[in-house]
Amino acid sequence: MDALARSLASTGLPHPLLVDVAREAIAAADPDSATERAATLARTLLQPVVNATGVLLHTNLGRAPVATARPATYANVELDLATGERGSRFAGVGHLAARACGAEAAIVVNNNAAAVLLVLAALAAGRGVAVSRGESVEIGGGFRVPEVMEQSGARLVDIGTTNRTRLADYTAAVARSDIALALKVHPSNYRITGFTETVPTDALATLPVPVVVDIGSGLLDAACPWLRSGPPAWLRDEPAARQTLAAGASLVTFSGDKLLGGPQAGIIAGSSDLVARCARHPLARALRPGALVLDALQDVLLAYLRRDGDAIPFWRMASTSVDILRDRARSIGVGDIVDSAAVPGAGSVPGVEIASVAIALAGNHRDTLRAHTPPIIARVEDGRTLCDLRTVDPGEDAVLAAALRTCGS
Ligand SMILES: *Cc1c(COP(=O)(O)O)cnc(C)c1O
Repeated sequence: MDALARSLASTGLPHPLLVDVAREAIAAADPDSATERAATLARTLLQPVVNATGVLLHTNLGRAPVATARPATYANVELDLATGERGSRFAGVGHLAARACGAEAAIVVNNNAAAVLLVLAALAAGRGVAVSRGESVEIGGGFRVPEVMEQSGARLVDIGTTNRTRLADYTAAVARSDIALALKVHPSNYRITGFTETVPTDALATLPVPVVVDIGSGLLDAACPWLRSGPPAWLRDEPAARQTLAAGASLVTFSGDKLLGGPQAGIIAGSSDLVARCARHPLARALRPGALVLDALQDVLLAYLRRDGDAIPFWRMASTSVDILRDRARSIGVGDIVDSAAVPGAGSVPGVEIASVAIALAGNHRDTLRAHTPPIIARVEDGRTLCDLRTVDPGEDAVLAAALRTCGS
Protein backbone atom coordinates (compact mmCIF):
# COMPACT_ATOMS: atom_id res chain seq x y z
CA MET A 1 0.00 0.00 0.00
CA ASP A 2 2.81 2.35 0.94
CA ALA A 3 4.60 1.63 -2.35
CA LEU A 4 1.41 2.28 -4.28
CA ALA A 5 0.90 5.55 -2.41
CA ARG A 6 4.49 6.60 -3.09
CA SER A 7 4.09 5.80 -6.79
CA LEU A 8 1.46 8.58 -6.92
CA ALA A 9 3.76 11.26 -5.51
CA SER A 10 3.82 13.14 -8.82
CA THR A 11 0.17 14.16 -8.19
CA GLY A 12 1.51 16.57 -5.58
CA LEU A 13 -1.04 15.35 -3.01
CA PRO A 14 0.27 14.87 0.56
CA HIS A 15 1.23 11.31 1.48
CA PRO A 16 -1.63 10.65 3.98
CA LEU A 17 -4.19 11.41 1.24
CA LEU A 18 -2.36 9.13 -1.19
CA VAL A 19 -2.38 6.35 1.43
CA ASP A 20 -6.19 6.73 1.64
CA VAL A 21 -6.43 6.50 -2.13
CA ALA A 22 -4.15 3.43 -2.26
CA ARG A 23 -6.18 1.75 0.50
CA GLU A 24 -9.44 2.32 -1.37
CA ALA A 25 -7.97 0.99 -4.63
CA ILE A 26 -6.65 -2.14 -2.92
CA ALA A 27 -9.95 -2.65 -1.06
CA ALA A 28 -11.70 -2.47 -4.42
CA ALA A 29 -9.26 -5.16 -5.68
CA ASP A 30 -8.24 -2.70 -8.40
CA PRO A 31 -4.81 -1.19 -7.60
CA ASP A 32 -4.61 0.27 -11.10
CA SER A 33 -7.53 2.56 -10.25
CA ALA A 34 -5.33 4.40 -7.71
CA THR A 35 -4.09 6.90 -10.30
CA GLU A 36 -7.60 7.85 -11.32
CA ARG A 37 -8.75 7.98 -7.69
CA ALA A 38 -5.89 10.36 -6.89
CA ALA A 39 -6.84 12.55 -9.87
CA THR A 40 -10.46 12.59 -8.70
CA LEU A 41 -9.36 13.64 -5.23
CA ALA A 42 -7.10 16.39 -6.64
CA ARG A 43 -10.10 17.81 -8.46
CA THR A 44 -11.99 18.26 -5.18
CA LEU A 45 -9.38 20.87 -4.16
CA LEU A 46 -10.21 24.53 -4.68
CA GLN A 47 -8.59 25.66 -7.92
CA PRO A 48 -8.95 28.29 -10.63
CA VAL A 49 -11.63 27.49 -13.21
CA VAL A 50 -12.53 29.26 -16.44
CA ASN A 51 -16.11 30.53 -16.21
CA ALA A 52 -17.47 30.24 -19.75
CA THR A 53 -21.10 30.09 -18.58
CA GLY A 54 -21.91 33.76 -19.24
CA VAL A 55 -23.18 34.06 -15.64
CA LEU A 56 -21.04 36.90 -14.28
CA LEU A 57 -21.78 36.21 -10.62
CA HIS A 58 -21.94 32.41 -10.52
CA THR A 59 -22.60 31.24 -6.97
CA ASN A 60 -21.05 27.80 -7.71
CA LEU A 61 -17.89 29.55 -8.93
CA GLY A 62 -17.54 31.92 -5.98
CA ARG A 63 -19.60 34.83 -7.42
CA ALA A 64 -17.35 37.80 -8.30
CA PRO A 65 -13.77 37.00 -9.42
CA VAL A 66 -11.30 38.59 -7.00
CA ALA A 67 -7.53 38.81 -6.86
CA THR A 68 -5.99 37.55 -3.62
CA ALA A 69 -2.22 37.69 -4.17
CA ARG A 70 -0.82 38.61 -0.79
CA PRO A 71 2.64 38.09 0.65
CA ALA A 72 3.00 36.25 3.97
CA THR A 73 3.33 39.41 6.03
CA TYR A 74 1.62 40.91 9.03
CA ALA A 75 -0.83 43.73 8.44
CA ASN A 76 -2.19 46.51 10.65
CA VAL A 77 -5.55 44.76 10.99
CA GLU A 78 -6.16 46.07 14.50
CA LEU A 79 -3.31 48.50 15.01
CA ASP A 80 -3.59 52.26 14.62
CA LEU A 81 -0.30 53.14 12.94
CA ALA A 82 -0.66 56.82 13.93
CA THR A 83 -0.87 56.19 17.67
CA GLY A 84 0.56 52.68 18.08
CA GLU A 85 -2.61 51.83 20.03
CA ARG A 86 -4.99 49.01 19.37
CA GLY A 87 -7.25 50.06 16.51
CA SER A 88 -10.54 48.80 15.17
CA ARG A 89 -10.66 46.14 12.50
CA PHE A 90 -13.83 47.81 11.34
CA ALA A 91 -12.38 51.29 10.94
CA GLY A 92 -10.17 51.31 7.83
CA VAL A 93 -12.05 49.31 5.21
CA GLY A 94 -15.35 50.43 6.73
CA HIS A 95 -14.34 54.04 6.15
CA LEU A 96 -13.57 53.33 2.48
CA ALA A 97 -16.95 51.60 2.06
CA ALA A 98 -18.72 54.53 3.68
CA ARG A 99 -16.86 57.04 1.53
CA ALA A 100 -17.66 55.08 -1.64
CA CYS A 101 -21.43 55.14 -1.03
CA GLY A 102 -21.85 58.47 0.77
CA ALA A 103 -22.55 56.99 4.21
CA GLU A 104 -21.43 58.48 7.54
CA ALA A 105 -19.93 55.14 8.57
CA ALA A 106 -19.78 51.47 7.62
CA ILE A 107 -18.55 48.12 8.92
CA VAL A 108 -17.72 44.88 7.15
CA VAL A 109 -18.89 41.41 8.24
CA ASN A 110 -18.74 37.94 6.65
CA ASN A 111 -21.64 38.20 4.23
CA ASN A 112 -24.89 40.05 3.79
CA ALA A 113 -26.85 37.44 5.73
CA ALA A 114 -24.54 38.24 8.67
CA ALA A 115 -25.04 41.98 8.09
CA VAL A 116 -28.83 41.68 8.33
CA LEU A 117 -28.59 39.38 11.36
CA LEU A 118 -26.26 41.78 13.17
CA VAL A 119 -28.40 44.85 12.42
CA LEU A 120 -31.52 43.13 13.74
CA ALA A 121 -29.78 41.74 16.83
CA ALA A 122 -28.06 45.02 17.69
CA LEU A 123 -30.95 47.38 17.01
CA ALA A 124 -34.12 45.37 17.55
CA ALA A 125 -33.63 42.32 19.83
CA GLY A 126 -36.74 41.88 21.98
CA ARG A 127 -38.64 44.44 19.91
CA GLY A 128 -40.68 44.51 16.72
CA VAL A 129 -39.38 44.95 13.17
CA ALA A 130 -41.91 46.03 10.54
CA VAL A 131 -41.57 44.13 7.24
CA SER A 132 -44.00 44.23 4.32
CA ARG A 133 -45.58 40.83 3.66
CA GLY A 134 -44.42 41.25 0.04
CA GLU A 135 -40.79 41.48 1.22
CA SER A 136 -40.77 38.58 3.69
CA VAL A 137 -38.85 36.58 1.10
CA GLU A 138 -36.38 33.74 0.76
CA ILE A 139 -33.25 34.59 -1.22
CA GLY A 140 -31.03 31.80 -2.66
CA GLY A 141 -29.17 29.45 -0.35
CA GLY A 142 -31.65 29.62 2.52
CA PHE A 143 -31.65 33.31 3.49
CA ARG A 144 -35.26 33.63 4.74
CA VAL A 145 -36.31 36.92 6.30
CA PRO A 146 -38.57 35.38 9.02
CA GLU A 147 -35.84 32.91 10.05
CA VAL A 148 -33.08 35.53 10.21
CA MET A 149 -35.47 37.65 12.28
CA GLU A 150 -36.08 34.78 14.69
CA GLN A 151 -32.34 34.10 15.10
CA SER A 152 -31.72 37.77 15.86
CA GLY A 153 -34.19 37.83 18.75
CA ALA A 154 -36.28 40.52 17.06
CA ARG A 155 -40.00 40.01 16.46
CA LEU A 156 -41.30 40.10 12.89
CA VAL A 157 -44.31 42.40 12.53
CA ASP A 158 -46.02 41.67 9.20
CA ILE A 159 -47.20 44.75 7.37
CA GLY A 160 -49.80 45.01 4.58
CA THR A 161 -50.48 42.14 2.20
CA THR A 162 -48.43 40.03 -0.17
CA ASN A 163 -49.12 42.26 -3.17
CA ARG A 164 -49.99 45.66 -1.71
CA THR A 165 -48.49 47.49 1.26
CA ARG A 166 -49.05 51.21 1.97
CA LEU A 167 -47.37 53.73 4.26
CA ALA A 168 -50.55 53.81 6.38
CA ASP A 169 -50.05 50.11 7.16
CA TYR A 170 -46.62 50.90 8.65
CA THR A 171 -47.92 53.98 10.49
CA ALA A 172 -50.68 51.93 12.12
CA ALA A 173 -48.23 49.21 13.20
CA VAL A 174 -45.79 51.74 14.68
CA ALA A 175 -48.65 53.35 16.65
CA ARG A 176 -49.95 49.99 17.85
CA SER A 177 -46.85 48.09 18.97
CA ASP A 178 -43.24 48.46 20.01
CA ILE A 179 -41.44 48.75 16.68
CA ALA A 180 -37.65 49.31 16.76
CA LEU A 181 -37.24 49.73 13.01
CA ALA A 182 -38.73 49.21 9.58
CA LEU A 183 -36.86 46.75 7.37
CA LYS A 184 -37.21 46.99 3.60
CA VAL A 185 -35.86 43.97 1.72
CA HIS A 186 -35.05 43.99 -1.98
CA PRO A 187 -36.80 40.85 -3.25
CA SER A 188 -33.78 40.22 -5.55
CA ASN A 189 -34.62 37.20 -7.71
CA TYR A 190 -38.36 37.37 -7.03
CA ARG A 191 -40.94 39.60 -8.67
CA ILE A 192 -44.54 40.45 -7.82
CA THR A 193 -46.29 42.00 -10.81
CA GLY A 194 -49.81 43.17 -11.56
CA PHE A 195 -52.00 44.71 -8.84
CA THR A 196 -49.15 45.73 -6.56
CA GLU A 197 -48.06 48.59 -4.34
CA THR A 198 -44.91 48.98 -2.27
CA VAL A 199 -43.68 51.85 -0.14
CA PRO A 200 -40.50 53.53 -1.43
CA THR A 201 -37.65 54.35 0.94
CA ASP A 202 -38.31 58.12 0.97
CA ALA A 203 -41.88 57.51 2.19
CA LEU A 204 -40.73 54.99 4.82
CA ALA A 205 -38.23 57.60 6.01
CA THR A 206 -41.14 59.73 7.28
CA LEU A 207 -41.87 57.07 9.94
CA PRO A 208 -40.70 57.84 13.50
CA VAL A 209 -38.40 54.75 13.49
CA PRO A 210 -35.12 54.12 11.63
CA VAL A 211 -35.44 52.51 8.20
CA VAL A 212 -33.01 49.74 7.27
CA VAL A 213 -32.88 48.70 3.62
CA ASP A 214 -31.36 45.36 2.64
CA ILE A 215 -30.50 46.25 -0.96
CA GLY A 216 -28.77 42.90 -1.48
CA SER A 217 -26.49 43.22 -4.42
CA GLY A 218 -24.24 46.13 -3.46
CA LEU A 219 -24.53 48.54 -6.35
CA LEU A 220 -22.75 51.49 -4.71
CA ASP A 221 -24.10 54.33 -6.84
CA ALA A 222 -26.81 54.30 -9.53
CA ALA A 223 -24.76 56.81 -11.56
CA CYS A 224 -21.84 54.30 -11.84
CA PRO A 225 -19.15 57.03 -11.87
CA TRP A 226 -16.52 54.24 -12.14
CA LEU A 227 -17.70 53.46 -15.69
CA ARG A 228 -16.68 55.84 -18.48
CA SER A 229 -19.96 55.27 -20.29
CA GLY A 230 -22.13 55.66 -17.18
CA PRO A 231 -24.74 53.19 -15.96
CA PRO A 232 -25.40 50.32 -18.39
CA ALA A 233 -29.01 49.94 -19.53
CA TRP A 234 -29.23 46.45 -18.04
CA LEU A 235 -28.93 47.83 -14.48
CA ARG A 236 -32.52 49.08 -14.76
CA ASP A 237 -33.89 50.04 -11.35
CA GLU A 238 -31.55 47.94 -9.21
CA PRO A 239 -31.40 49.77 -5.86
CA ALA A 240 -28.09 51.50 -5.09
CA ALA A 241 -26.56 52.22 -1.68
CA ARG A 242 -25.89 55.93 -2.24
CA GLN A 243 -29.38 56.75 -3.52
CA THR A 244 -31.09 54.60 -0.87
CA LEU A 245 -29.25 56.47 1.89
CA ALA A 246 -29.99 59.81 0.21
CA ALA A 247 -33.68 58.84 0.15
CA GLY A 248 -33.59 58.65 3.94
CA ALA A 249 -32.60 55.09 4.89
CA SER A 250 -30.75 55.06 8.21
CA LEU A 251 -28.80 51.97 7.17
CA VAL A 252 -28.28 49.86 4.09
CA THR A 253 -26.93 46.31 4.01
CA PHE A 254 -25.42 44.57 0.99
CA SER A 255 -23.12 41.78 -0.20
CA GLY A 256 -19.48 42.29 -1.11
CA ASP A 257 -19.48 39.64 -3.84
CA LYS A 258 -22.50 40.54 -5.97
CA LEU A 259 -22.58 43.80 -8.01
CA LEU A 260 -19.91 45.27 -5.73
CA GLY A 261 -17.55 42.79 -7.39
CA GLY A 262 -15.46 41.99 -4.31
CA PRO A 263 -14.85 39.07 -1.96
CA GLN A 264 -17.58 37.39 0.07
CA ALA A 265 -18.47 40.01 2.67
CA GLY A 266 -21.42 41.95 4.00
CA ILE A 267 -21.50 45.71 4.50
CA ILE A 268 -23.58 47.73 6.92
CA ALA A 269 -23.48 51.42 5.98
CA GLY A 270 -25.32 54.52 7.17
CA SER A 271 -25.76 56.57 10.31
CA SER A 272 -22.62 56.50 12.46
CA ASP A 273 -24.64 56.06 15.64
CA LEU A 274 -26.44 52.94 14.38
CA VAL A 275 -23.29 51.51 12.75
CA ALA A 276 -21.45 51.96 16.08
CA ARG A 277 -24.21 50.07 17.92
CA CYS A 278 -23.81 47.18 15.43
CA ALA A 279 -20.01 47.20 15.87
CA ARG A 280 -20.36 47.08 19.67
CA HIS A 281 -22.76 44.12 19.72
CA PRO A 282 -21.17 40.80 20.84
CA LEU A 283 -22.24 39.11 17.57
CA ALA A 284 -19.98 41.51 15.64
CA ARG A 285 -17.00 39.60 17.06
CA ALA A 286 -18.36 36.31 15.72
CA LEU A 287 -19.18 37.76 12.31
CA ARG A 288 -15.99 39.73 11.67
CA PRO A 289 -14.02 38.97 8.50
CA GLY A 290 -10.33 38.06 8.41
CA ALA A 291 -7.45 40.05 6.98
CA LEU A 292 -7.57 38.23 3.61
CA VAL A 293 -11.11 39.43 2.98
CA LEU A 294 -10.45 42.95 4.27
CA ASP A 295 -7.41 43.15 2.01
CA ALA A 296 -9.29 42.08 -1.12
CA LEU A 297 -12.25 44.32 -0.30
CA GLN A 298 -9.94 47.28 0.30
CA ASP A 299 -8.47 46.87 -3.21
CA VAL A 300 -11.96 46.90 -4.73
CA LEU A 301 -13.11 49.92 -2.71
CA LEU A 302 -9.96 51.88 -3.61
CA ALA A 303 -10.70 51.17 -7.28
CA TYR A 304 -14.23 52.56 -6.83
CA LEU A 305 -12.84 55.67 -5.15
CA ARG A 306 -10.41 56.13 -8.08
CA ARG A 307 -13.43 55.66 -10.40
CA ASP A 308 -11.50 52.85 -12.06
CA GLY A 309 -14.11 50.27 -13.05
CA ASP A 310 -11.53 48.54 -15.27
CA ALA A 311 -9.64 47.50 -12.13
CA ILE A 312 -12.72 45.61 -10.87
CA PRO A 313 -12.96 42.31 -12.81
CA PHE A 314 -16.77 42.14 -12.54
CA TRP A 315 -17.27 45.60 -14.06
CA ARG A 316 -14.51 45.09 -16.63
CA MET A 317 -16.22 41.90 -17.84
CA ALA A 318 -19.73 43.34 -17.61
CA SER A 319 -18.85 46.39 -19.69
CA THR A 320 -16.63 44.88 -22.41
CA SER A 321 -18.11 45.72 -25.84
CA VAL A 322 -19.62 42.98 -27.97
CA ASP A 323 -17.18 43.95 -30.76
CA ILE A 324 -14.21 43.18 -28.55
CA LEU A 325 -15.75 39.85 -27.54
CA ARG A 326 -16.28 39.02 -31.23
CA ASP A 327 -12.65 39.89 -32.08
CA ARG A 328 -11.50 37.58 -29.29
CA ALA A 329 -13.74 34.80 -30.58
CA ARG A 330 -12.17 35.20 -34.03
CA SER A 331 -8.63 35.02 -32.60
CA ILE A 332 -9.50 31.88 -30.65
CA GLY A 333 -10.28 30.41 -34.05
CA VAL A 334 -12.18 27.28 -33.03
CA GLY A 335 -15.90 26.57 -33.44
CA ASP A 336 -18.69 28.87 -34.60
CA ILE A 337 -19.07 32.44 -33.36
CA VAL A 338 -22.64 33.03 -32.16
CA ASP A 339 -24.60 35.74 -30.35
CA SER A 340 -25.16 34.94 -26.72
CA ALA A 341 -26.87 36.42 -23.68
CA ALA A 342 -24.85 36.76 -20.48
CA VAL A 343 -26.58 37.48 -17.14
CA PRO A 344 -25.47 39.27 -13.95
CA GLY A 345 -26.39 36.24 -11.75
CA ALA A 346 -26.56 35.64 -7.98
CA GLY A 347 -30.08 37.06 -7.87
CA SER A 348 -28.87 40.51 -8.97
CA VAL A 349 -30.94 42.34 -11.58
CA PRO A 350 -33.04 39.23 -12.32
CA GLY A 351 -34.42 38.76 -15.80
CA VAL A 352 -31.89 41.01 -17.56
CA GLU A 353 -29.56 39.82 -20.27
CA ILE A 354 -26.29 41.38 -21.38
CA ALA A 355 -25.56 40.96 -25.08
CA SER A 356 -22.57 38.70 -25.51
CA VAL A 357 -20.65 36.42 -27.86
CA ALA A 358 -20.05 32.70 -27.50
CA ILE A 359 -18.06 30.02 -29.24
CA ALA A 360 -20.33 27.13 -30.18
CA LEU A 361 -19.38 23.51 -30.80
CA ALA A 362 -21.89 20.93 -32.01
CA GLY A 363 -22.73 18.35 -29.35
CA ASN A 364 -22.29 18.25 -25.59
CA HIS A 365 -18.63 18.69 -24.57
CA ARG A 366 -19.27 19.90 -21.05
CA ASP A 367 -17.59 16.91 -19.37
CA THR A 368 -14.49 17.09 -21.59
CA LEU A 369 -14.12 20.81 -20.93
CA ARG A 370 -14.62 20.36 -17.20
CA ALA A 371 -11.95 17.62 -17.17
CA HIS A 372 -9.44 20.03 -18.72
CA THR A 373 -6.71 21.67 -16.62
CA PRO A 374 -7.79 24.28 -15.69
CA PRO A 375 -11.44 23.16 -15.79
CA ILE A 376 -13.61 25.09 -18.27
CA ILE A 377 -17.25 25.47 -17.22
CA ALA A 378 -19.48 25.82 -20.30
CA ARG A 379 -23.21 25.59 -20.95
CA VAL A 380 -25.17 23.39 -23.34
CA GLU A 381 -28.14 24.73 -25.33
CA ASP A 382 -30.05 23.10 -28.17
CA GLY A 383 -27.48 20.36 -28.62
CA ARG A 384 -24.55 22.78 -28.75
CA THR A 385 -21.82 23.58 -26.26
CA LEU A 386 -21.52 27.34 -25.72
CA CYS A 387 -18.50 29.10 -24.23
CA ASP A 388 -19.57 32.66 -23.47
CA LEU A 389 -16.59 35.01 -23.67
CA ARG A 390 -18.05 37.76 -21.45
CA THR A 391 -17.13 35.83 -18.31
CA VAL A 392 -13.76 34.61 -19.62
CA ASP A 393 -10.77 36.80 -18.82
CA PRO A 394 -8.83 37.63 -22.04
CA GLY A 395 -5.79 36.12 -20.32
CA GLU A 396 -7.64 32.78 -20.39
CA ASP A 397 -8.39 32.81 -24.13
CA ALA A 398 -5.35 30.68 -25.01
CA VAL A 399 -6.31 28.06 -22.44
CA LEU A 400 -9.89 28.06 -23.74
CA ALA A 401 -8.66 27.66 -27.33
CA ALA A 402 -6.47 24.69 -26.35
CA ALA A 403 -9.34 23.04 -24.47
CA LEU A 404 -11.78 23.56 -27.34
CA ARG A 405 -9.34 21.95 -29.77
CA THR A 406 -9.36 18.76 -27.65
CA CYS A 407 -13.15 18.48 -28.13
CA GLY A 408 -12.95 17.66 -31.83
CA SER A 409 -16.53 18.13 -32.93
C1 LIG B 1 -28.05 37.98 -1.71
C2 LIG B 1 -28.91 38.63 -0.71
C3 LIG B 1 -28.76 38.34 0.66
C4 LIG B 1 -27.76 37.34 1.15
O1 LIG B 1 -26.48 37.86 0.94
P1 LIG B 1 -25.18 36.94 1.13
O2 LIG B 1 -24.03 37.88 0.93
O3 LIG B 1 -25.27 35.86 0.11
O4 LIG B 1 -25.22 36.41 2.53
C5 LIG B 1 -29.57 38.99 1.56
N1 LIG B 1 -30.48 39.89 1.15
C6 LIG B 1 -30.65 40.19 -0.17
C7 LIG B 1 -31.70 41.21 -0.54
C8 LIG B 1 -29.88 39.59 -1.14
O5 LIG B 1 -30.05 39.88 -2.43
